[in-house]
Amino acid sequence: MTTLRFKALDEISRRNLSAATHNDQKISSYFGSDVFDREQMRQYLPKDVFESVNTAIEENRRIDRKVANQVALGMKCWAMERGATHYTHWFQPLNDSTAEKHDAFFEPLWGGGSFETFRGDLLVQQEPDASSFPNGGLRNTFEARGYSAWDPSSPAFIIDQTLCIPSIFVAYTGEALDFKTPLLKSLAALDKAAVDVCQYFDKDVTKVVATLGWEQEYFLVDEALYNARPDLMQTGRTLMGHTAAKDQQLDDHYWGAIPERVSNFMKDFEEQAYRLGIPLKTRHNEVAPNQFECAPMFEEANIAVDHNTLLMTIMRKVASKHKLKVLFHEKPFMGVNGSGKHCNWSLATNTGVNLLAPGKTPKTNIQFLAFFVNTMKAAHDYGTLMMASIASETNSHRLGGHEAPPAILSVFTGSTMDAILNSIEQRISDKKLSPDEKTEIKLDIGKIPEILLDNTDRNRTSPFAFTGNRFEFRATGSSSNCAPPLIIINAAVTEQLTRFKAEVDALIEKNVKKDEAILQVIRKYIKESKNVRFEGNGYSDEWLREAASRGLKGINNVPMAFREYLTPESVALLERHGVLNRTELQARYEVKNETYLKKVQIESRVIGDLAANHIIPTAIKYQNILIENVKGIKDIFPQDFEDMAAEEIKTIRKIAEHVKYIRAHTAEMTEARKKWNNVENIAERTMGYESEVRPYLDDIRYHIDKLELIVDDQLWPLPKYRELMTIY
Ligand code: ADP
Ligand code: MG
Repeated sequence: MTTLRFKALDEISRRNLSAATHNDQKISSYFGSDVFDREQMRQYLPKDVFESVNTAIEENRRIDRKVANQVALGMKCWAMERGATHYTHWFQPLNDSTAEKHDAFFEPLWGGGSFETFRGDLLVQQEPDASSFPNGGLRNTFEARGYSAWDPSSPAFIIDQTLCIPSIFVAYTGEALDFKTPLLKSLAALDKAAVDVCQYFDKDVTKVVATLGWEQEYFLVDEALYNARPDLMQTGRTLMGHTAAKDQQLDDHYWGAIPERVSNFMKDFEEQAYRLGIPLKTRHNEVAPNQFECAPMFEEANIAVDHNTLLMTIMRKVASKHKLKVLFHEKPFMGVNGSGKHCNWSLATNTGVNLLAPGKTPKTNIQFLAFFVNTMKAAHDYGTLMMASIASETNSHRLGGHEAPPAILSVFTGSTMDAILNSIEQRISDKKLSPDEKTEIKLDIGKIPEILLDNTDRNRTSPFAFTGNRFEFRATGSSSNCAPPLIIINAAVTEQLTRFKAEVDALIEKNVKKDEAILQVIRKYIKESKNVRFEGNGYSDEWLREAASRGLKGINNVPMAFREYLTPESVALLERHGVLNRTELQARYEVKNETYLKKVQIESRVIGDLAANHIIPTAIKYQNILIENVKGIKDIFPQDFEDMAAEEIKTIRKIAEHVKYIRAHTAEMTEARKKWNNVENIAERTMGYESEVRPYLDDIRYHIDKLELIVDDQLWPLPKYRELMTIY
């Protein structure tokens, strides 16, 4: 009987893949055609309704019932003209996916006949029977009610004849059960704090939005091979597999020519993305074999987050048409790079100014400096919480390795900004500035754009790097929703801007001139946040030592990192700005622990099964072949036997050794699981899994990978790394 592996390889060799079916139209001719955006709203809604929706969005206000009814009518009409038959509230529960439950517009009439309907109340709010989403104890199943409610600031769209309405998801008692609710709250808080600070510089600023440009990395694997790897199917990563002789060491994949099959896949999903208004701009090969990246033009953070989760869903769907599987896991393969999702973050005003881009005049540059320094200070004060926000079981395989920023938060500013910060720190003192000093500082600040333009220094080893006109949070994992890190960054910067305003106002009250007051506070923050600045190599051991001596807290243990969510400082931060309350944080903490624990539990079961049912039987089969061979040698060459069979006998012993260890470790691992499963407290149980179950995964893998090198290739049941990492 052939193994799944050989069936898969055989299937691949016979496969005749059809070419991409993408159209040749200009992208601009169909961009956003499946989105109920402002332009469509203008066309489908009465003028006054359109205007009140717009104002509600601008001012983060509720939309009243009457208006909602008319929006529903317009939306239904628009959607049905485009062939939609169903509608759904589309939301992002606390796992790494999106949720939807489709209902038909169609309504049968009592006594015969039917019609299509969609009312305002259905648009605004729904009560999905959603007791099975992670909720961290916020909803007991007997009180399973959760509500989804329309988020008018993210436009509705059509997928597969279904009108999808971006929504938040909250418990009956009001607590958030999703990522979007706290994200929206953090954005509203940030808006207010940032506008207040902007008022020092420009009275026309009435709204500030956070912008997000994500970069999504992913792997592709042939579907047939994927289906022959139970570990990939069930855990998203390979739990075993010896590294291939050649993988990324020749650096020949990064930005290389994109294989045709892959570019067909890309064109296909890009077309769907464009129809949905996702402004994808770049695509390229990444470092590891079969690793790729795509990135859009940045957008308002809330929409960018929706677009990222939406795109991940589309990519999964489109991949199967090309007989590919997309792997969003942060570390699907040992020994080659993992995948991240860089989050480029900045702030934009209603006047069209990017607050993290140096301006043209000293005045705009002081504004830039204020936002720059406040962001840096926020990272200094809440860096550990930022790292906790991206800590997960899957991301932990990637962080701190030599491909991803380490688990300690530091800020890279670039040499130009570094020099400017240092000079401000030295120049401005608490006493009044002399006119000469003032001129010098202004000249200095006035020079920022010029210098930055020539500045090409980039530091890829920093988790939070300033890249000229934005900060780039690089520690985010590829499978994660972008919202958790953004929620923390937004809240921390909000806090910081609020403090900044209070301190500047206090100085102004003491008759310090506004400009000078601002510079003095900036200088104070530069001093106070100095520890978080690091321009060197974040992957080096010196940095680990240096960071420790600076008192920067790293994250070396994921379940420990989760505790950061419950420290008094974190709770105070998030409660103060109305982002998440203690109950919600406790719930998130439990969900994070539970997810972590379950992932380790599943991996542990899968490796146990594979070891017992695939690997050990295969090893024994091969061992028996060797034993037969040795017996034969003995029969035919009784005199030379010892010499001739020496190597075979050694190999037989080696196999026996590895099998013995695999068996022993698997049994111990199962015992450890049993022990910790009996512990009631979820955080304790998770910690137990982390320290006593998880290490076995590597131990067992070690022996399996050794066996892979020994056993006859014809017998080996699982596709090997060299096969998985080829696009055929
Ligand atoms: P790199 O790989 O050098 O970081 P990419 O072009 O792959 O560059 O990605 C840069 C990302 O940063 C893009 O998604 C881009 O839209 C985003 N970006 C640029 N300016 C801003 C901004 N002001 N706010 C948020 N994101 C931004
Ligand atoms: Mg980047």
